[in-house]
Amino acid sequence: MNLPTLHNMMLFVAEKMVESEPTLTALDQVIGDGDHGIGMKRGFAAVMVQINDPNFNPKDVGDFFTQIGTKLMTSMSGASGAIFGTFFRAGGKSLSGVTDFTTQALADLLNHGWQAVYARGNAKPGDKTMVDALAAAAEKAATLTTCDLKTALPQIADAAMAGAEKTKQMVAVFGRAKNLGERAVGHVDPGSISMAYIIKYMNEFIQK
Ligand code: ADP
Ligand code: MG
Repeated sequence: MNLPTLHNMMLFVAEKMVESEPTLTALDQVIGDGDHGIGMKRGFAAVMVQINDPNFNPKDVGDFFTQIGTKLMTSMSGASGAIFGTFFRAGGKSLSGVTDFTTQALADLLNHGWQAVYARGNAKPGDKTMVDALAAAAEKAATLTTCDLKTALPQIADAAMAGAEKTKQMVAVFGRAKNLGERAVGHVDPGSISMAYIIKYMNEFIQK
């Protein structure tokens, strides 16, 4: 996928993330403080403006994701601004000089993004965070690097959503859900759904 198509894909993803605000808000109202949907909406609305700006001319795929991460980090508040910002910034850094967005590039984005999110916030798989969706997606993507994106993305999106669904059974280690203890069991982590949605909407774009 070339850079102009990547622009269009992430514009589609950003629009869909903005539209997902009510769903994400409802999830965070159950086990958090209810601001996750608003934060993601604010961040991805800023990304839409960024991508539509005629002066936005990232030099390669890596620069593109790095700049998106910086925008999320500076426009969103709360834990998730730092977390999702770190994901795209670190993932982008690993793709410096890359001009074609392939399954290998997506696998690198996910893997380096995951390592950086871990370095920043210490959440491991099983801690009931977005890392549960991200790690599942990264591990699946690593097995599909020889497939084209149209073939690989449905499987990576499914793995991410399965990782997010698994958070239902987990007790939270971070954030406000931690204070709920066992009462958070049975409810999905909102950030993990956001992470799974980002990949789900990438897939919807590429299947169009
Ligand atoms: P806040 O917790 O500040 O209200 P949000 O509601 O926007 O922020 O985001 C909460 C989400 O952030 C959680 O659902 C979880 O997925 C994610 N999160 C919180 N702490 C961490 C962490 N240490 N590592 C990875 N993700 C985290
Ligand atoms: Mg919150």
